[in-house]
Amino acid sequence: MTNVLDGNAVGDRIREELRGCIDTLDGEGVTPGLATVLMSEDPASETYVSMKQRACEDLGIESIHREIDPDAPAEELFETVESLNDDPEVHGILVQMPVPDHVDKRTVLRSIDPEKDVDGFHPENVGRLVAGDARFKPCTPHGIQKLLEAADVDTEGKEAVVVGRSDIVGKPMANLLIQKAPGGNATTTVCHSRTDDLGAKTREADIVVAAAGYPELVDGSMIAEGATVIDVGVNRVDADNEKGYELVGDVEFESAKERAEVITPVPGGVGPMTITMLLYNTVKAAGIQADVPVDLP
Ligand code: NAD
Repeated sequence: MTNVLDGNAVGDRIREELRGCIDTLDGEGVTPGLATVLMSEDPASETYVSMKQRACEDLGIESIHREIDPDAPAEELFETVESLNDDPEVHGILVQMPVPDHVDKRTVLRSIDPEKDVDGFHPENVGRLVAGDARFKPCTPHGIQKLLEAADVDTEGKEAVVVGRSDIVGKPMANLLIQKAPGGNATTTVCHSRTDDLGAKTREADIVVAAAGYPELVDGSMIAEGATVIDVGVNRVDADNEKGYELVGDVEFESAKERAEVITPVPGGVGPMTITMLLYNTVKAAGIQADVPVDLP
């Protein structure tokens, strides 16, 4: 029987445990606060931000929101981030990507106080992750680590293949998998758009993390018998339904499930974990800034 991992259930359990940390902070007069900044009218970005706000409110994290006209000068965004950096009620800051073309993304990431950078994308936090001294692990790869742990998938000494080399998923995922630390110690290969014969690489893997943003790129024929398959992809494809589309992952679920021992579905696998780990990082940030020790799950 294939174990289909339930990201909602694992996420809910971690959120429940985070409540205990929030109570500890509350006892010291601290309410964790997460600021979201949106400079876009893209409906998907608006949805992501509102999901994050709702998740905060459900857990008792203060949600602060700033919207900036996408046609406004970049300076307006930087001034907003600066004021949030200076606001003691704000412990985490998240600028929803993508930002408009006239705003330099790297400068945005650098403008956030590294102690409030709950996405973990500031160069200081990227460096700390690579050096094995992470302050904030990026939410999606961290969530995957937690999912693997919950499913008792041991990464130590295993062959792992990460498909995708983005700064937000592929690279930090590979960095976590190679760390000499729990949830790491895997021999890790990173594949990308220029990789020759992807299937030959994935078939060698005990653990495949697919994060290419390409619908059903990895099918059952590319999976080793008994492998663990983590599907990060969220792709909209045309469908004959009311909405006119459906969401599919980077893995062809049905054929991969035939061979995998452990697999994540889309939706309901990695997605809920990403938001959970954003809440986790916000609680951690509040603990660091208020100098209150919290017992994180
Ligand atoms: P990205 O476009 O920034 O990066 C995709 C990577 O995949 C690139 O490095 C590229 O080299 C590689 N790639 C593309 N086609 C490939 C191919 N045919 N073979 C091998 N490698 C290939 O995307 P991203 O931001 O890393 O996101 C990846 C996917 O994960 C997207 O579908 C995105 O929507 C989804 N995502 C989901 C969550 C979540 O919480 N569930 C979070 C972040 C991203």
